[in-house]
Amino acid sequence: VRKIGILTSGGDAPGMNAAIRAVTRVALANGIEVVGIRDGYRGLVEGTFEAYSKTSVSDILDRGGTKLGSARLPEFKDPEVQEMAVNQLKANGIEAIVVIGGDGSYRGAQALTKLGINCIGIPGTIDNDIPGTDFTIGFDTALRTCVDAVDKLRDTSSSHHRCSVVEVMGNRCGDLAVYTAVSCGAEIVVSPETGYDELDILEKLRYLDTAVHKNHAIVIISEKITDADGLARKISQNTGFSGRATVLGHIQRGGSPSPTDRILASRMGEKAVDLLMNDIGGHCVGIIDNKIISMPIDEALNRPKASRKHLYRLFDRLI
Ligand code: ATP
Repeated sequence: VRKIGILTSGGDAPGMNAAIRAVTRVALANGIEVVGIRDGYRGLVEGTFEAYSKTSVSDILDRGGTKLGSARLPEFKDPEVQEMAVNQLKANGIEAIVVIGGDGSYRGAQALTKLGINCIGIPGTIDNDIPGTDFTIGFDTALRTCVDAVDKLRDTSSSHHRCSVVEVMGNRCGDLAVYTAVSCGAEIVVSPETGYDELDILEKLRYLDTAVHKNHAIVIISEKITDADGLARKISQNTGFSGRATVLGHIQRGGSPSPTDRILASRMGEKAVDLLMNDIGGHCVGIIDNKIISMPIDEALNRPKASRKHLYRLFDRLI
């Protein structure tokens, strides 16, 4: 392969820049030309390409977000739009692409591979909701942000006999919630894996107040499970705690990537280029049992997500 493109798609995540840098530098070191593609599949269709040199990716390793910009282009599901992208690539001599994004972005990569452009997917999202890997780029940084926020809330909650309900992201994946809960010694965790049982939550909090005499409590909930403000109100009305909701929101997506994410992104970027050099397309890169692996995107999308049952059990044992 002589010339490859790189794009970031879907929601941005800290560490995407480290992956862009790794793909660029490993490719250039192997004599492969690299083209940066702006704004995900939109830039691919519109042909917003920029030739990258080693210095194009200088000073981005420690920066959150993505230098290439990200966008959603729902029309990319349309075969005619995919054909336009292929024509742009052929006109510019780009033979293969590395796509950094989520499972939607993987589907786009798979479609392009079927049309003759080898694509490799790299999992980038703070939600850790992509199959085919234990961890995604950005998850560790977001987890640090959540832990930092909950530690601070704990300080103020304990001064006021308060129960903090903290909503974290995850897009129907409870990993940010359960990892935060175990890291912070939360009292309750509510995620897609645990399900939402309001009466049970209120009962537990009443017990913690009256029998255990806790002077504060932290409830970590995944987004999209329930309204955090509504739950906080019910806690104030039905338990001895004063309930307060904090929705961490988009601060979880920002910040300088953690060393763990920088290393993960660099290793995954290297692997993606190695695969393309071996003429492999339609695969995604992952880390499983701390080994960098790859598998066909089809296979990844049909795999169950890594189980966190052991962490939920540990959480229960630690309260
Ligand atoms: P995140 O989970 O962070 O939101 P994602 O990659 O899953 O990331 P999506 O919005 O699902 O985010 O997908 C990103 C883009 O990938 C879409 O805007 C679209 O351009 C492309 N895409 C998604 N699904 C498909 C599909 N079935 N076929 C072709 N392209 C797709």
